[in-house]
Amino acid sequence: MDPGIVCFQHCGPKIFCFLLPETCPVCDVDLSQANFSLLPFRVPYPFIRASQYPCSVVIKPTSGDFLNDYYNSMDLHIGVTTSTGTIVEFDKNGLRRHRSEQWGQCLLLDQAPGPWTEHWDNTLLQVCRQKCWSSKAYSEHKHNCYTFVLTFLMTLNYGNLSKAANNRTIFCEKFIVPRTTSAGKYISLYRKLKENGFYVHRTNSK
Ligand SMILES: [Zn+2]
Repeated sequence: MDPGIVCFQHCGPKIFCFLLPETCPVCDVDLSQANFSLLPFRVPYPFIRASQYPCSVVIKPTSGDFLNDYYNSMDLHIGVTTSTGTIVEFDKNGLRRHRSEQWGQCLLLDQAPGPWTEHWDNTLLQVCRQKCWSSKAYSEHKHNCYTFVLTFLMTLNYGNLSKAANNRTIFCEKFIVPRTTSAGKYISLYRKLKENGFYVHRTNSK
């Protein structure tokens, strides 16, 4: 899943690419003989596979994936995982538990540590049993994936995450916007590289 974006500096600006080129795209010097001012390193991939993160709150685009299909935070879908990494989500199809690859590229909002496991699973089961999570009851704006996850988090009573869950706007500001903003930088870099092969980050001071 990780496209493997590499960053290096040779003669000045930072250069991003998928594969190290033979010559520097800025000064054309043969890179096999060159001294780098910043040695090539892999840019950290911000996304995770939900099934590998038990007891977590995760988000992904409602359709498609972040790298290719994401444009703004209005298109996000939220879910949680159980202690065994099963994904639990509520949408127009009702409540679903599964381990499909649809959640193979998502952002981690938070993960509860080991001692919370039993309480997490029990609370999730308790919330899932409520009759209100049916496809009939679903409403795109008023009774949706957020309603389900925030109800679960409030019932869980887990520190700051549960406190923020009282108010959807505060929850978004504290837990979603910081993640999507930093992932957004990676996404736009990825799209530039896909279009041009490399990207030279020139700053005004240079
Ligand atoms: Zn150069």
